[in-house]
Amino acid sequence: MIAPTVTISKRGVERLASGHPWIYSSDVIPPTGVEAGVVRVIDQRKRFHGQALYSVQSQISLRFLTREERPFDAAFLAERIRAAAAFRQQVAAGVQAYRLVSSEGDLLPSLIIDRYGDCFVIQTLSQGMDRLKSTVVEILKKDFAPRSILERNDVAVRSLEGLPEQIGVLAGEDVSEVVVEENGIKMRYDLMHGQKTGGFLDQRENRAAAAGYAHGRALDCFTYTGGFALALAPQCESVLGVDGSADALRQAERSQGLNGFNNVKWVEANCFDLLKTADQERQRFDIVVIDPPAFARQKNNLEAALRGYKELNLRAMKILNPGGYLVTCSCSFHVSEADLLELAANAALDAHRTAVVVERRMQSRDHPILLTVPETHYLKCLILRVL
Ligand code: SAH
Repeated sequence: MIAPTVTISKRGVERLASGHPWIYSSDVIPPTGVEAGVVRVIDQRKRFHGQALYSVQSQISLRFLTREERPFDAAFLAERIRAAAAFRQQVAAGVQAYRLVSSEGDLLPSLIIDRYGDCFVIQTLSQGMDRLKSTVVEILKKDFAPRSILERNDVAVRSLEGLPEQIGVLAGEDVSEVVVEENGIKMRYDLMHGQKTGGFLDQRENRAAAAGYAHGRALDCFTYTGGFALALAPQCESVLGVDGSADALRQAERSQGLNGFNNVKWVEANCFDLLKTADQERQRFDIVVIDPPAFARQKNNLEAALRGYKELNLRAMKILNPGGYLVTCSCSFHVSEADLLELAANAALDAHRTAVVVERRMQSRDHPILLTVPETHYLKCLILRVL
């Protein structure tokens, strides 16, 4: 079957040349009668540019899959998934929970596949990719013989595509809770109800890095299900994990139980308030982790977001003992690493502390950053040492 054709404008062609795989609707000549799915892309002079996922409703009309002419069929899709899996064997060897397919980073725009042991959780975030959902499921069944394949398509961006939000079992067992080992720590994830596909797999390498500096008293702000807190626990005298969600903390406590740690406590609180109170009470810590949700979801709230990040960093700097470590993260794409370094520097100045940059880190390598797609570099993590 020959895919239908969609024509792009000169500006669309220029955008492609910049290496970005998205073409906005304003750069597409509106086609008639073309449905969402895989299309061949040509320009107004009928030159072929590649094949893309087409959405009839989104601002992003086309997401490029390939510049090749060979049909983008099930075999081609399977090849891409296998290539992604082969890369994970290098960067996530022996890891039980990781991102198997990371959208643009694996040349499969708007497809997420997270693996938790023998359970797979998928998200299809554009109309075109949503049409390929059953093919993806068949490929996973064939290649990995999974116990379960779930969909976590309860993601707000789907509404921009006119797609419903839905959660469910696509194949195999109705599994919700799984236990996987991460950096030697047992973690319980709720695949049906947890955030994202159950957990923040993008922080795995940063948790391991943070554990390398852990000692004494640790504070993990925005702990969610205890990822950093439990990673730090074996090295610390005591750990305090703080989050605003009681549900998340219950899950954290259950993971704590699996590991038999008795030096971790959980507090349900607003981290801004808790940090302030900790300083007023002259509490001191040897390592503080700050991993807030994305404060800058849109560019227009960047300034407010930077103020929020700075306040957290300032308060954290104040309560660190000399020689203590601050692990500070931002998962807002709009906050660059340079922004994070600058606000951390200003926070140190305001806190009258001197700090050195020990590590500049990013999302785990199973969430690849495509060099020509800045949006794929969203997570920044600095490890600072306060002198
Ligand atoms: N560090 C976690 C991921 C954090 S996700 C990990 O490694 O897995 C962000 C968390 O911040 C969510 O659990 C959310 O409940 C929590 N949160 C958001 N705003 C908060 C606030 N003001 N105070 C405390 N927790 C907050």
